[in-house]
Formats: sequence, structure tokens, C-alpha cells
Amino acid sequence: MGSTGSVGRQALEVVQRHSERLRVFALAAKSSADLLARQARRFRPRFVALLDETLVPDLRQLLAGCDVEVLAGMEGVCQVARDPEADIVLGAASGAAGLRPVLSALKAGKQLALANKETLVAAGPLAMDTAAAHGATILPVDSEHSAIFQCLEPSVPIERLLLTASGGPFLRRDPGTFAAITPAEALKHPNWSMGPKITIDSATMMNKGLEMIEARWLFDVEPRQVGVVIHPQSIVHSMVVFQDGSAKAQLSMPDMRIPIQYAFSYPARWDGPDGRVDWSIGQTMEFLPPDPARFPCLGLARDALHQGGAAPAVLNAANEEAVALFLRGAIPFTGIAQAVYRALESLGHHQAYALDEIVAVDAAARRYVRTRA
Ligand code: MG
Repeated sequence: MGSTGSVGRQALEVVQRHSERLRVFALAAKSSADLLARQARRFRPRFVALLDETLVPDLRQLLAGCDVEVLAGMEGVCQVARDPEADIVLGAASGAAGLRPVLSALKAGKQLALANKETLVAAGPLAMDTAAAHGATILPVDSEHSAIFQCLEPSVPIERLLLTASGGPFLRRDPGTFAAITPAEALKHPNWSMGPKITIDSATMMNKGLEMIEARWLFDVEPRQVGVVIHPQSIVHSMVVFQDGSAKAQLSMPDMRIPIQYAFSYPARWDGPDGRVDWSIGQTMEFLPPDPARFPCLGLARDALHQGGAAPAVLNAANEEAVALFLRGAIPFTGIAQAVYRALESLGHHQAYALDEIVAVDAAARRYVRTRA
């Protein structure tokens, strides 16, 4: 799910590299019909699903003569997510659009390789309860959570999780100039190649805020046990601290294909992409605490995490909407945190557990941000 996005495309590179072990059963995308058709011709899945139904006729035309069944809309995407023939479902749709298909896969008891962090942010308790009730397994694809997953020890309690953050492109820029940041500047991430939404989230550090909430649910820890440390080199991908004072970390090149592949190969490890950390040259690794004044989104996410209820869903939806407005030039970079703050003040106190409640809160937060931009 999300095959035409950044994680989806890199997942298909993993499939291509390990074609003797992996086969594509279905591909689903939001609206990139051209690329979806090219991927389908190359990987020959049984099904393709396109969320945007208005583009389905185009997709059918592009796939004329190809032995693949085209499914339409949210129901089509959910159908492939729960198909009994699929062993692993990759949830890599961006944003809140991934919520229903992910729940659909969990209800079907799938092994879910989860890249869509928004699902656990907006619907953490519901997603974890659904997974437990239907025997589904969630394997994290987000690099930090994959790192933590790789460091865990069976039935050994966690004292603390430390999520590492690159600090993004504005770690050292004068905060007095943040209002003048352009979308082009914010889209230049120093270390990672990712889609536009998550790249802006990295620049504001909202990404790390969403990841704190994601970690809280994935690893069943208390909010106070989740910390953040800035590590500009992006070689240490996160750490687990145990009660004896030992910390374990996972290190690798910043390459999303590594955590994607591990979610497919687990518990085995397969031959990975080219590129290794070069220990024959001097490596300097820095670790610094995040500056709350520079990155207000991190504090907003922590507040939402502690508040619980609808607050994380409001945070997520307001942020997604504000990022879209920033990318269109409708609000300044500093307006993202302001919009999220106001939406949380106005809507964060509601309760939301069930899917319809989360969907309603999500829509209200988006409306709130749009109408006040
Ligand atoms: Mg991440």
C-alpha cells in the first residue's frame, strides 16, 4: 500500500533484489496511475488498487492487455490489504489515508510491515487492540522503530527508548529567520531521501514527535520513557536503555531499504543494499539534546502524547493540513507549529478511540486549520 511513494518504490527495489524470495501479490496507490501501471507491468501482481476512483479508467487503459485486475477506491485498497493470499502487507501510504487499509490488514491477522506512522499516532490503542485480537504482527519499517525492534531482548523490560533525530536542515540556522524558510529549503534533507510530507516533518521535527507517539504504542511503554536525542550523522538509528544502565543501538547507513528489507526478512537477515559505514576513516558522531525553542512541534507532540484521547489524532491531522498549506505557500514555516497548537487547544480535549470517532476528529482538525489559514 503506497507503492508509488518513496517507501513503496524502495520496497520494490528490495523485491527486485530478492526476487527468488519475494513476489508482489498486489500494489495499491493513491493517485499516481502512470507509475502504478509501470510498476504493474514490471512486477506482474494479481491486483492493483487505486484510491482515486476518477483515475481508474485511465489506469485500466494503461493496463490494457495486461493480466491484472484493477480495483477502485478505499474498498479496493482494503480488499487487497486483507486478501488471504498475501503473507505480508506493507503499509506505506502517506498520512491519514493509510488508516483504514492498515486496520483492514490487522483484522485479517496479517504480518504488517508498518511504515505509515500516522496510523499509530491517530489510532494507537485501536490499532494495537485490533492486532492483538486478530493475531496480527506489526513489524516496524520506520528506521528508528526498526532499530529499537532490533535491540529488544525477549521479556527484558525497557527502561527508556531514545529516538535519534538528524535535526533536519535547520539544526543550525538562526531561528530568527525561520519565518522566511521556503518550501524548497525545507525539502532539502541532509541525510535521508523521503517523500515531501515526512521531509517537512523532519525540518520541523514533528516527525520525531509523531515517532515518540508511534514508539509508545508499538513497544507499550509509558510516555515518560520515550526520549529524543539529535544525532546529525544519522548512523545510530535509535537506542534502547535497559535497567542495568546498558544501552543498545542499531547502526547502519541511512538507507530506508535496510529497515524495509528487515521487515520482510525478519527474523533472518538478507544481503543488503550497497554502501557500508566506513570504519577505516575517522567517524565523528555527535549527540545533542533538542532545543525546544527551535523545534516547538516536538513539545506539542509530547503534550499530545501525555494528554492522550483525541489529542494525537488532532496533532496529526492539523500537522498534515498545515504542511500541505506550507508547501502551497499559503502559510509560513513557523505557521505549521502555530496551526497545530491552536487546533490542539480547540479540539485536543475530546475522546477518540473507535474508527468513526478518529475519522470525525481528523476531519474537524483539518477543517479548523484550513479555515484559519
Ligand atoms: Mg523515522
